[in-house]
Amino acid sequence: MKPIRMVDLATQYQHIKSEIDSAIMNVLGHSGYINGPEVKAFQASLESYLNVKHVIPCANGTDALQVAMMALGLKPGDEVITASFTYVATAEVISLLGLTPVLVDVYPETFNIDPSAIEAAITPKTKAIVPVHLFGQCADMESIMDIARKHNLFIIEDTAQAIGAEYTFKDGSKKYAGTIGTVGTTSFFPSKNLGCYGDGGAIFTNDDALADNLRMICNHGQSKLYTHDVIGVNSRLDSIQAAVLNTKLKYLNEYTSHRVSLANAYDKVFANNSNLTTPKRSESSTHVFHQYTLKLNGVDRMGLKTYMESKGIPCMIYYPIPLHMQKAFKDERYKEGMFPVTEMLCSCVVSLPMHTEMDEEQINYVTSNLLNYLKN
Ligand SMILES: *Cc1c(COP(=O)(O)O)cnc(C)c1O
Repeated sequence: MKPIRMVDLATQYQHIKSEIDSAIMNVLGHSGYINGPEVKAFQASLESYLNVKHVIPCANGTDALQVAMMALGLKPGDEVITASFTYVATAEVISLLGLTPVLVDVYPETFNIDPSAIEAAITPKTKAIVPVHLFGQCADMESIMDIARKHNLFIIEDTAQAIGAEYTFKDGSKKYAGTIGTVGTTSFFPSKNLGCYGDGGAIFTNDDALADNLRMICNHGQSKLYTHDVIGVNSRLDSIQAAVLNTKLKYLNEYTSHRVSLANAYDKVFANNSNLTTPKRSESSTHVFHQYTLKLNGVDRMGLKTYMESKGIPCMIYYPIPLHMQKAFKDERYKEGMFPVTEMLCSCVVSLPMHTEMDEEQINYVTSNLLNYLKN
């Protein structure tokens, strides 16, 4: 059996090696490392895949969030609501820009932001909501969009973990994660569902004026060469990464279905086990299983992790400390116990290996060892 990893990018590369190598060699041949034709080509293929008017490639998923907030003209003092249970980047850029992060709790079943908590946190200073489509399925966008319309708020969807997830509205219409709100952001960090071989990110929008603004901010606030209209940043996707992404995008649907079939296999073995709660699938969103995350009931989590690791099976805890309990976000507004669902999840979640190269033998090995641990 091949060694089990959380993600296995080396094996994935072996399967598409000739295509990837020739895509990269092309860039070396023309040496247009920055803004080469691969960047435009990838932008166009992703626009068509996501059915969105504008994709603005940038350097990483954290920049994507930052540039989105800058382009929307958010100002110090403005409040931005986001989930207390997410990766730090989501909230970090809010603070970095001098905006006020307002954390709210999540649903215990889907791990995604709770719209009633959003509604309760709105003040006259609220300007935007950042729903995170955590672990691979969309937040409750129908309710979130209703709230945004009612209170005239921007929606910035953090789609770093959910590229390709599809949301179905009550009227039957469907949209991809990241193309529903005012603007969507994503990351192409190597281990994400669509990952490059370094850092990368992108911003999505259907708004032409906003797209111009996003492009300008990514490029030093430059409207024409050496004409700078606003203070921007330097955030680019380079040609080699774009070449890799354009190759891998062709496989994204295949990769996603493989992840879903692994999740189904995990679900089947863990169903009806009183020590485990399998991840709930939302009724309105597909799940692209960036992570397969269990909730443990009455199980010693560190004991389990150590046992699994002794069998050569990595497990990860996403995320062990809620944002409001992090030193960096220390704030008199926050106390332990304020976000009970987030705190409960941080104490009991565990994510199992999940990637495009996992096979049945490996899944069986993971599940049988996990069940073994629970028996003792
Ligand atoms: C990975 C991730 C990011 C940041 O992406 P980088 O490319 O690493 O900057 C932001 N938000 C979420 C939810 C993520 O998982």
